[in-house]
Amino acid sequence: MWDASKCDLCGECLANCRYVDYDKERAAEDIKLLMEGKEADILKSCITCVACNDYCPTGADPSNLIFKMQEKTGASPIVASMKPLVDLMTKGLEGEGGPGQLIPGDPDKPVLSFDSFEFKQFPEGTLDSALFKGMSVVRGPEYMSLVGAVHMGAESLSEKYAQKVIDRLAELKKDIVYIHNEGYLLAHMKAKELGIEVPFRYQHLFEYLIDFLKNNPDSIKKLNKKVAYQANCAIRWFRQQDIWLGEIFDLIGVECPPREYSGVNALCCSGPIIGTNKELAIDIQQRNVKDAMDCGAEALITICPMCDAVLRRPTSQLGFPKIFITDLCRMALGEIPWPGA
Ligand code: SF4
Ligand code: SF4
Repeated sequence: MWDASKCDLCGECLANCRYVDYDKERAAEDIKLLMEGKEADILKSCITCVACNDYCPTGADPSNLIFKMQEKTGASPIVASMKPLVDLMTKGLEGEGGPGQLIPGDPDKPVLSFDSFEFKQFPEGTLDSALFKGMSVVRGPEYMSLVGAVHMGAESLSEKYAQKVIDRLAELKKDIVYIHNEGYLLAHMKAKELGIEVPFRYQHLFEYLIDFLKNNPDSIKKLNKKVAYQANCAIRWFRQQDIWLGEIFDLIGVECPPREYSGVNALCCSGPIIGTNKELAIDIQQRNVKDAMDCGAEALITICPMCDAVLRRPTSQLGFPKIFITDLCRMALGEIPWPGA
């Protein structure tokens, strides 16, 4: 959450932004305008990648200031283009979007939450995997992660509906495993920022996968592959995900060769601007996939269903395998083959 008391107007945030060409002086001027509640050029150019959180040396959370002001002023083209979707999401959160789905499982096992995603937005066969066997599964508009609404010009949805979503999950009276990292961030980060108590235990998908792989070492056949991965925006709020992912890669015999667009320098998947700046979106996608191929990786790993959907076309056009993280683990368990094998 934006904390003006931590901002010394150093300008690092926007001077490092990959999607504008600012020096520190101009960056500081824009941040100052936003702090005064005024419009600034960055609102139009910002693609909502969240990377400036990584660039800010004081933890002031400049992306949150930008997202709030994008919504307040409507200056970002993302706001108008996403309004129909935001209206639909709001209806869902108000309980007018049709019922959620709950597939009951073993009473002793946790619930796997898909947030508001459709099951079909994850790879085919995900729920048949030994990884998730016996778990109850829940999805629906009232379980929405909310944190990702910043990519739709709707930052305020978290504040308005976080309590409601946490309450709905609490009604299940079970531990929750979030298959989507922004669902985890609602419980782990946003709820704390908003002073909301989370009355259930929860795990990030990666924590769950690490436990599963460690508990089933005899089922793993190391893949001995090199992969690149698409860091989704949630990484910018919660760096621990990178560490957990590295642990998963070690457990299944996967190596990440160094590449230009990784860590702090990762590129956005470009999803938020596909409807407003298609040319830039395609340019980002192509640079990203080519960089992954050039580093010697044999596939691109995605960890978010949105990144996965956005990168489907460019990876397929360039003939480069793209694998969702759960499928990568299923390959190590011998449930499905490596692409083309
Ligand atoms: S969120 Fe990303 S695109 Fe927006 S200003 Fe920050 S770094 Fe730039
Ligand atoms: S938000 Fe952070 S990086 Fe940006 S001007 Fe303020 S202190 Fe500097």
